[in-house]
Amino acid sequence: MTYSGLKPSSTVGEFDLIQRYFHELTSQHGVELGIGDDAAVISLVDNPLSRLVVSMDSLVSDIHFPSCSSAYDIAQRSLCVNLSDMAAMGATPRWFTLALHLPEQLAVDEWLSGFSKGLGEIANCHNCALIGGDVSRGNLALSITIIGQVQADQALTRKGARPGDQIYVTGTLGDGAAALRTMFSESNDPMDLRLYRHFYSPTPRIKEGVLLRDLASACIDISDGLLSDLGHICLKSAVGAEITLSCLPVHSDLKTNFSNDFLDWALSGGDDYELCFTVPSGRVNEIDRLVRQGQIDATLIGQIVEGDDIALVSDSGKQSINKSGKKHRGYTHFV
Ligand code: ADP
Ligand code: MG
Repeated sequence: MTYSGLKPSSTVGEFDLIQRYFHELTSQHGVELGIGDDAAVISLVDNPLSRLVVSMDSLVSDIHFPSCSSAYDIAQRSLCVNLSDMAAMGATPRWFTLALHLPEQLAVDEWLSGFSKGLGEIANCHNCALIGGDVSRGNLALSITIIGQVQADQALTRKGARPGDQIYVTGTLGDGAAALRTMFSESNDPMDLRLYRHFYSPTPRIKEGVLLRDLASACIDISDGLLSDLGHICLKSAVGAEITLSCLPVHSDLKTNFSNDFLDWALSGGDDYELCFTVPSGRVNEIDRLVRQGQIDATLIGQIVEGDDIALVSDSGKQSINKSGKKHRGYTHFV
């Protein structure tokens, strides 16, 4: 498709685009935290103790899910990835709206009932109610706006990490990328089924986010890859980080079956929807206790340092990640 009147020029990257063209529009009364985090935090004039937390994510066919995906799976994935941003903020999800662009041939009972079932299961699981939306004809795409709540001053943000803080991730890394590799094999192998479920219904770490409200100095969900998303914490907090490669939690299936790829996937694969968070060193014993009690599945992977680089530490030494290098940049739209 061509767009009239536009001269060919270089494409603007996703994060530059937001920063250059939208960031300045965010400062309105009541916006406590605007563009630039996992969600916005809005204060309510008549309720000084509560904050609304608002986030939106769109899923487009053949970009965020294969067009052959079932309606049930598409619905589950779209709500799960939106809930993940609530988890990253330590918010309790409450309500969501849904904009659905649907090709005419999918506006049939078979597709819509599967979609509704998938959406309803995840919504019920998290006590999150669909409160409105919009339907139009078009190429298959969905946008969900999700609204949660958190008490004043309790939202977790990307800003707040300090040198000496310890870096943790929940669950395992690399599963999102591995899922893309195996998803089309139609096998009943337990590994393939686990990865399939991980891709279409990644567990939003809501419970963990709530537990971390008082404890974490910064938090983000890993949607684009650990290095890219930890990079956002470093940028917003004006710090650097050191990651110990041998500490990265990777499922044994990946280590066995994808020995050449699992490390790259854990660092930059994306679609993991785990939380990456930092904790002041004086409070790591509280995380240890939550881990021992089985309340949170988290692994210590490194520490925050002065500077602005992310370094990977292994037996062979320390390697700084060149931020402009493509290899570990994670997923971005456009360039
Ligand atoms: P996430 O990966 O956590 O969903 P994104 O990388 O999509 O976050 O977005 C980063 C920040 O930029 C968020 O605060 C988001 O609300 C904001 N943002 C993204 N697109 C737009 C847009 N079109 N207009 C305004 N803000 C945007
Ligand atoms: Mg996010």
